[in-house]
Amino acid sequence: MKSKNSTMKILVIITTVVIVLGITLVVLNNNTNSEAGEKFAEQPPIEGQPVLGEDDAPVTVVEFGDFKCPACKAWGETIFPQLVNDYVDTGDVKFSYINTLFHGKESTLASMAAESVLHQSPEAYWEFHEGLFNAQPSENHDSSWITNEKIIEIANEIENIDVEELELALENETVVEEVNKDTELVEEFNVQMTPSIMINDIMLEDPFDYEAIKKLIDQELEG
Ligand code: CA
Repeated sequence: MKSKNSTMKILVIITTVVIVLGITLVVLNNNTNSEAGEKFAEQPPIEGQPVLGEDDAPVTVVEFGDFKCPACKAWGETIFPQLVNDYVDTGDVKFSYINTLFHGKESTLASMAAESVLHQSPEAYWEFHEGLFNAQPSENHDSSWITNEKIIEIANEIENIDVEELELALENETVVEEVNKDTELVEEFNVQMTPSIMINDIMLEDPFDYEAIKKLIDQELEG
């Protein structure tokens, strides 16, 4: 009887320890996830998307952005340069951008133009991308500013863009499928706001928290 009792006691202790360890692990895991953001089954595919950085960079950062969105302009001017300096230039991160059409016709027009430039001269893409955001007025951003004329004006200042070809592409909407492909990704990853930033398969809670971004990238680099 005595030895049976002690065996039971030991079993109870072991079971308790296992349960407590299990709960602790679940809590820790949840904390890691909720701290940085929502974890998806996979990261967004970036084939056919603009990519800044080395192709074999181990971590992928994807922005779901809208050229018409003021927060995207702000993100591009504050967080993006730090990310490029700290991680893209070092070969640790490749950065990609997916068009998110949350502001109607102007978002669509700017996305068409960007996709056309990417298609005809990929080396000019990022300069054109920056040119579009630079053209966004700091105040009164709801005013209509994305027009064919503005797009041509921006393109004219960038080397390696064939402006006539760009005009034709806009007229014929030759890259509409690329824009639609982006919209499908926006839906698939349940994007609710712009900018939305994903680091590998994790959608950031707060895209403006650079410390959290660094922490997560460093974790992904280690893992
Ligand atoms: Ca795209």
